[in-house]
Amino acid sequence: MALHQQAHIVVLGSFMTDVVSYVSHLPRVGETLCGSKLAICCGGKGANQAVSATRLGANTAIIGKLGNDSFGKSYLDALKKEQIITDFVGLTSEALTGLAQIIVEDSGQNSIVIVPGANNYLTTQDVNNSKDTLAKAKIMLSVLEIPCETVLSGLKLANELGVFTILNAAPAVENLEKDFYALADIFCVNETEAEMLIGQPVTSHDEALSAAHRLMGKGCKKHVLVTLGKHGALLLSRNDQNGFLEPVSVTAPEVKAIDTTGAGDCFLGALAYFLAYHPDFPLSKAVVNACRVASKSVQKAGTQTSFPYKHELECDLF
Ligand code: ADP
Repeated sequence: MALHQQAHIVVLGSFMTDVVSYVSHLPRVGETLCGSKLAICCGGKGANQAVSATRLGANTAIIGKLGNDSFGKSYLDALKKEQIITDFVGLTSEALTGLAQIIVEDSGQNSIVIVPGANNYLTTQDVNNSKDTLAKAKIMLSVLEIPCETVLSGLKLANELGVFTILNAAPAVENLEKDFYALADIFCVNETEAEMLIGQPVTSHDEALSAAHRLMGKGCKKHVLVTLGKHGALLLSRNDQNGFLEPVSVTAPEVKAIDTTGAGDCFLGALAYFLAYHPDFPLSKAVVNACRVASKSVQKAGTQTSFPYKHELECDLF
């Protein structure tokens, strides 16, 4: 059981129960629709990333908050089944488990309402309670689906403890305090998130490079990573003289994509895995490999359900 193992990756993140209704068309105001199918799945960026890393073989702990309700309890069971270390998962009675109500129409278009609920009750104290485990971890990975001050306290603590930090600045926000940039060893965003932060479109490797420079200008201390969907990812790193290394453009494998939901989370979990378990790999190789893992996930339906296990991947990745 992973429970008694030391976590090498600590995810400071979120949980959402995804409730997905499938309908012929999105309902108009006041309309009651009869759906054809219902699915209830585990989601939330933090948990997704923890699942991705764990399926590759990482000992992963998650710091997060669920509601003390049936969704929360069954989510906790699901995490244990995945062998994720749940010592720092709290159940609160202050709010219900985070929920994403997703309506998908036949055309594939969707509308989504997210209620963060219990995620809003994850506090600095919860982060501090994990200090001993965090101190021995190799990587801390965080997302913005939990309170900003909690993310910042996690980043600060990881920095104090000398733990390598990855911040996935998602979901997209318009303004982000300087500390978020400065405390992340890798600052990672997708095209939409990059666009929100810098106010310019990002759809190609060239635009991602210019976005990465702008993000560096906002205070990123080491690496900026912009994921570009089917186009792959762009990595920009500082050199020792505070200049920049040659940017690395990674192309994603060409695959038949069925469902790209959660591809970014799959990518980030995989990236954390390669950094924690293959310290001999240069960062660029970890990014190439994470792209390959994420490209596998888009070939299957669902979010966590689409994330590959180590045995399903090509041996040369490891
Ligand atoms: P997000 O899910 O956060 O929007 P992206 O869409 O940028 O993230 O996807 C993350 C990674 O997943 C990409 O860098 C790429 O490696 C992989 N990926 C996403 N979509 C595809 C696709 N259609 N084909 C191949 N790989 C993909």
